[in-house]
Amino acid sequence: MVRILLVGPPGAGKGTQATGIAATFGIPAISTGDIFRANVRDETPLGVEAKGYMDRGEYVPDSLTNALVADRIRQADCAGGFLLDGYPRTLDQVRALDEVLEAQGNKLDIVVEITADPEVIVERIRLRGLEQGRSDDNEEVVRNRLDVYARETAPLIEVYQKRGILVTVDGIGTVETVSGRILQEMSALGFSPA
Ligand code: AMP
Repeated sequence: MVRILLVGPPGAGKGTQATGIAATFGIPAISTGDIFRANVRDETPLGVEAKGYMDRGEYVPDSLTNALVADRIRQADCAGGFLLDGYPRTLDQVRALDEVLEAQGNKLDIVVEITADPEVIVERIRLRGLEQGRSDDNEEVVRNRLDVYARETAPLIEVYQKRGILVTVDGIGTVETVSGRILQEMSALGFSPA
């Protein structure tokens, strides 16, 4: 049983690692980016509202994002733990997540920060944009997403560091190398797959 969060700049490989780590632990991976993209694709009211922010590389407002995640975490499949990918990303989201978990008598166990050099990121995302056709993967929007990350999300690192639940992993390397690093850090904190 583990409640874990992956944090890191866009293009650090969070999504890929999230899927792998969640599968290894048999817990759901919750990606707010994926949920928003699914809503944009299906043209739901949430998707219509979120699309403009996403296309500009800005964050979707906290009110929308917090409600979405609160709802998701209360679902039955999260009772045995979960992995959050890309949420929280603002201090207000940290507070909202704390509230939801406290109400359940739970808390986050571990926060994994995945780091990567900005130049490597810009190149990775350029390739991903070509492969997946994501509308927010062009260079100008990517640079904005990196700025927004530095301004809004980087401060979360210190918050979780002070709580003593932060580990930092180098995101440069093959998928297997990076997931090996994450599993090693988790194991050092007492979290190993069953
Ligand atoms: P991602 O796939 O995690 O890079 O997210 C893609 C886009 O979805 C972001 O650039 C934001 O516009 C939006 N998004 C995802 N997660 C959040 C979040 N926690 N708070 C606000 N916006 C988010």
